[in-house]
Amino acid sequence: MIYHHIVLNTILPPLTYSYHHALPLGCRVVVKLRGKAQIGIVWASGILPDIAPEKILPIQQVFENEVRLPETWRDLIAFAARYYHYPIGQTAFTALPSLLKEIKAVDLPTPPVFYALNDVGKQQNPPAKHHAKKFALWQSLLSGSHTLAELKKIHPKAADFIHEYQQNGWLDANTHALPSIPPSQHILNDEQQAASQAVQAHLFEYQAFLLHGITGGGKTEVYFDIMASVLAQGKQVLFLLPEINLTPQLLQRIAARFPDMPTAVLHSQTASSQRGRDYLRAMLGQAKLIIGTRLSVFTPIADLGLIVVDEEHDSSFKQDNDLRYHARDLAVWRARQAGCPIVLGSATPSLETWHKAHAGIFTLLTLSHRANVAARLPEIQILDVRRLRLDNGLSPQVLQLLQNNVQQGGLSLVYLNRRGFAPALFCGDCGHTFGCPHCSAKMVLHQRAGQLRCHHCDFRQPIPQSCAECGNQDLTAIGQGTQRIETTLQQYLPHAQIARVDRDSTSHKNDWAELYARIEHRQIDILIGTQMLAKGHDFANLNLVVVLNADGSLFSSDFRAPERLFAELMQVSGRAGRAEKAGKVVIQTQLPEHAVFQAIRQQDFAQFATPELAQRQQFALPPFGFQAAVRADAAKMQDAVDFLNEIRDVIAPLMPESVFQLGAIPMLMARLAERERAQIFIESTDRVALHRALSLWQQSLFAHAQAHIRWHIDVDCQEM
Ligand code: ADP
Ligand code: ZN
Repeated sequence: MIYHHIVLNTILPPLTYSYHHALPLGCRVVVKLRGKAQIGIVWASGILPDIAPEKILPIQQVFENEVRLPETWRDLIAFAARYYHYPIGQTAFTALPSLLKEIKAVDLPTPPVFYALNDVGKQQNPPAKHHAKKFALWQSLLSGSHTLAELKKIHPKAADFIHEYQQNGWLDANTHALPSIPPSQHILNDEQQAASQAVQAHLFEYQAFLLHGITGGGKTEVYFDIMASVLAQGKQVLFLLPEINLTPQLLQRIAARFPDMPTAVLHSQTASSQRGRDYLRAMLGQAKLIIGTRLSVFTPIADLGLIVVDEEHDSSFKQDNDLRYHARDLAVWRARQAGCPIVLGSATPSLETWHKAHAGIFTLLTLSHRANVAARLPEIQILDVRRLRLDNGLSPQVLQLLQNNVQQGGLSLVYLNRRGFAPALFCGDCGHTFGCPHCSAKMVLHQRAGQLRCHHCDFRQPIPQSCAECGNQDLTAIGQGTQRIETTLQQYLPHAQIARVDRDSTSHKNDWAELYARIEHRQIDILIGTQMLAKGHDFANLNLVVVLNADGSLFSSDFRAPERLFAELMQVSGRAGRAEKAGKVVIQTQLPEHAVFQAIRQQDFAQFATPELAQRQQFALPPFGFQAAVRADAAKMQDAVDFLNEIRDVIAPLMPESVFQLGAIPMLMARLAERERAQIFIESTDRVALHRALSLWQQSLFAHAQAHIRWHIDVDCQEM
């Protein structure tokens, strides 16, 4: 009997099972755990059993003819489990698509076939030119290798001609051919050229680059240029981006630039069967271009030649439940493992990445002006609203600007990162506000739906007729949400075409297509929108951006709040003046002197980042120190706090000296969906020491587990 370590979807370490011969690593098997059949992955073979051999169960079934999860993937899983202090089995099964978690053999996808004229074919007379499509088809087959899908776009009857030419012996049908990449529409400018060349000088070795380019600076074209040369070598490219940026616009742009490239698109809306197939296509080297959101960082890739992380600062790369991984950080690890370059791109890099670029760990590449020469950077005005009379949050200046722009046929964006009608309902008599019964959050008024809604747990209730405390029937909606701004603007500008874009108004793919069509046909004058609209969208004629109520987060105790606000404001400002029309941005604020606004006005990231980093250094905050949170939640706050503090005291004598741990405190959002939440921060300037401390925590948390308390460890935590 040969003993194997099998990784299962549990919190347990790999378990020992036997088989009559040695199994290849990474192979999927079926074993029994507590009487139930489970899928497992062979993690080690030929091990010495750590329990009495007669207690070791046999492996029930082996999917030996499938492709195996490669060593590079297993190493990635092992690293992620170690780094994030999460059980290896659950890490592996987070990373697998559901297709591979089923107790069923999988069919392997067939590779795409590429057609091209062979030497005999090339000597034939081309079809007559007046058969334009047929002639174009012939030219394509002469110029390089193409898939049938692509050829059908040239001639709908391509399949028939392919068949005919094959019968004549004129064609090569090849699954290994490199698809042709047509040249770019643009000539890269000097900065773009320099950036692309810098990366291309390191195509076969690990090196991390930060591509810092202003919005509209042409980062995407730089990615494409590097991708083209990696793909032309037959290597695969992993392109990671935030969910919200994976727009049809971007996918169209990629399809236009790499028309024949076998591509896998993996995001949360990909159907699970498709996801499974794409996972296998990437693993087998069939899909050359793998585009996806954070989870796709776990896709096994046969021959990885480049990783791109677009909008690398985006917080959606960090998963905030279960396995709390950061896809950008894992991507850097993967590039090192694969020995390939990685390009992190952003107009507002995370301070972690910015710091690494200045410490020489990453190489800094800069795009300092707009790539489209007709497009200029917008003019940004910080409008102090402290002494202005606002009407529902809108200053007279802003209303005037909007009115003028409507009259002149421009497109305006009113940006407000708060959906609903008003963020709170307030009783003028007793001061009562309506909070969510399950969370420490105010209920948001949704006027049209006639509801109060909690934006954290989605609890909903009809709008109350009177105050729950004093019975007063005169309730006031305070603050502004997108719906209220929409209503107000409709009153002021009754002839303007106004469209609201937020999660309540735009939830389907078709909504976007419709919106784009309306904008293109100049049927919209004013867009009102949340973050959804600020990212990744490119509206050519947008020339005025108004930002309302930008200050809220600056009162928060989260030390990353200014960083996030700066990124958000740059992002939304960057929507203005992408094309010929000069852009203007007006930001309404009560805190005009705040450094964030001063730097925004100059549109200068360094002006913001340099003092901000100095402050972080002073307090040994990330990126100068490393931080993890251990969190617990229970029905009562005291239970969560006590649980953490007790463990802290137990392990305190074993803590490495350089590790600081504070006492347990409530989280900023102290109560969420009926659970009260506490956390303890563990900090050190020594990463290794921090991880030793977290291993101690992990063991003790398991040892002290109580049924009514849930807990987790969050390494490089983002949430406060
Ligand atoms: P970013 O990704 O940095 O926001 P993009 O790559 O989307 O910038 O480029 C912004 C705009 O400029 C796009 O419309 C793009 O087509 C155009 N553009 C990019 N590079 C060039 C270039 N070298 N010459 C002309 N136009 C360019
Ligand atoms: Zn709630």
